Amino acid sequence: MEYSRVRPEDLAALASIVGASDVSNEEYDLVTNALDAFAGEPVLPEAVVWPENSSEVLEVLKYASSRRIPVTVRGGGTGLTGASTPRFGGIVMNMMKMNRILEVRPHDMQVDVEPGVIYDQLNKELEPYNLFFPPDPASGKSCTIGGMIANNASGLKAVRYGATRDYVLALRVVFPVGLDLRLGSRVFKYSTGYDLARMLVGSEGTLGVITEATLRLRPLPRHRRTIAAYFDSIEDGVRCIGRIRLSGIEPGAIEFLDRTHLRLISEWSGLNLPDHECMIILEFHSYSRAGLDEEVTDAVSLLREGGAVSIVVPKDEAEAERIWEARRGAYPSILKACRSPIIGDIIVPLSRLLDAVNKAYELAKKYGVRVGVMGHLGDGNVHANWLTDRRNRDEWERALRANAELTRYAIEVGGALSAEHGVGVEKKEFMWEQHREVLDLMKKLKEFFDPNNILNPGIML
Ligand SMILES: Cc1cc2nc3c(=O)[nH]c(=O)nc-3n(C[C@H](O)[C@H](O)[C@H](O)COP(=O)(O)OP(=O)(O)OC[C@H]3O[C@@H](n4cnc5c(N)ncnc54)[C@H](O)[C@@H]3O)c2cc1C
Repeated sequence: MEYSRVRPEDLAALASIVGASDVSNEEYDLVTNALDAFAGEPVLPEAVVWPENSSEVLEVLKYASSRRIPVTVRGGGTGLTGASTPRFGGIVMNMMKMNRILEVRPHDMQVDVEPGVIYDQLNKELEPYNLFFPPDPASGKSCTIGGMIANNASGLKAVRYGATRDYVLALRVVFPVGLDLRLGSRVFKYSTGYDLARMLVGSEGTLGVITEATLRLRPLPRHRRTIAAYFDSIEDGVRCIGRIRLSGIEPGAIEFLDRTHLRLISEWSGLNLPDHECMIILEFHSYSRAGLDEEVTDAVSLLREGGAVSIVVPKDEAEAERIWEARRGAYPSILKACRSPIIGDIIVPLSRLLDAVNKAYELAKKYGVRVGVMGHLGDGNVHANWLTDRRNRDEWERALRANAELTRYAIEVGGALSAEHGVGVEKKEFMWEQHREVLDLMKKLKEFFDPNNILNPGIML
């Protein structure tokens, strides 16, 4: 598709919409809006705008559509798939100035926010109300609510509380076709036709720009407890996760780290974690202390029966925090170990979990690359992280092939090419295998809302 370049008169037109201080073509603004956390090639935009309200978003989109200038939407820029990379240059619409918490309605257990609110900041503001927004991505200190909705982000707590999709009640969305619409409803359930608000969840900025969101909230758990269990066999560790899921115990988090990750985290953090094949971390949430004690006792028995060689039940919050510190160290320790790792993200049905983990190790051997496996295994989400460096072209290509084969495997066994990081540019090539003829329907929807294909072109579809 042919796009227009941004000319000086376009910059002037954008300045008349958002104000001169909220549009830039300065080199440092272009560079800092060129790429997300994906290890791909950065592409410089030609201009950046920072809208402050829905009508500015609408006017920018209408103008760009009429001039056929591509617009790429950007939240915190923490995406791992290149989804906020301006593939064709044009304008980056940076949402960080729309960052107000509009209204907390504790009695409705809801909050209205603008899209640029940072995840951790929102939960900090909700704490006095004893409420929280659960999805909990590991990037929570920097990612925005808009980016989370556009990616259907989730994380540590999805196994019990679900993903972002489960919390989106209503959205205000601006579409390039020139519409500014409120979608969804401020109630927990409704039966009123097509669920257009949820259609935007996971759309990666390809259909419209989210300018407001109403999220449902959950009460903060009154009591929490963490357990860590170490195994000398991957098979024992993974099978234990299945047993816990089937037992009826409902942990708030079930995390898995293999030996490669344990060693990297130890080297990076100095935490000196025990050297075993794998570690499972469980967190329990409960209203009552007695209920919590019972769940923990039963889980410890299941872990023992399942072959755990060492189980740590922290005596206090500080000890529990050290365990979570180790888990949080996973990404930084990979980045320390290699310059440009390929962060994998697949999901498979629980019955294929062990197969999927073994497949990652098999592929590492086949392609002669290093892999570490971790993830939110409690819901089938496996992160196979390929430890490679882009500067070693040959190794990088082999790691890409290994990751591609694992992704195809996930699709073949009824899973998905991504559980939470999304498609972006990284996994676009697998969309046909994932969706087949439904992909055409998705493209028609895109055409309807964005007839000139200006919004996030080259991303996802
Ligand atoms: C260290 C690290 C750990 C991570 N851990 C997790 C994890 O545990 N779970 C997880 O799910 N993800 C994780 N991620 C990936 C990423 O942080 C999330 O997907 C996050 O939701 C992206 O939010 P963002 O604000 O940074 O969005 P961006 O990266 O800026 O954008 C992501 C997508 O959302 C679109 N978008 C942004 N704002 C809007 C809007 N207002 N309207 C329409 N579209 C919009 C963009 O165009 C793009 O397609 C991790 C990333 C890193 C770097």
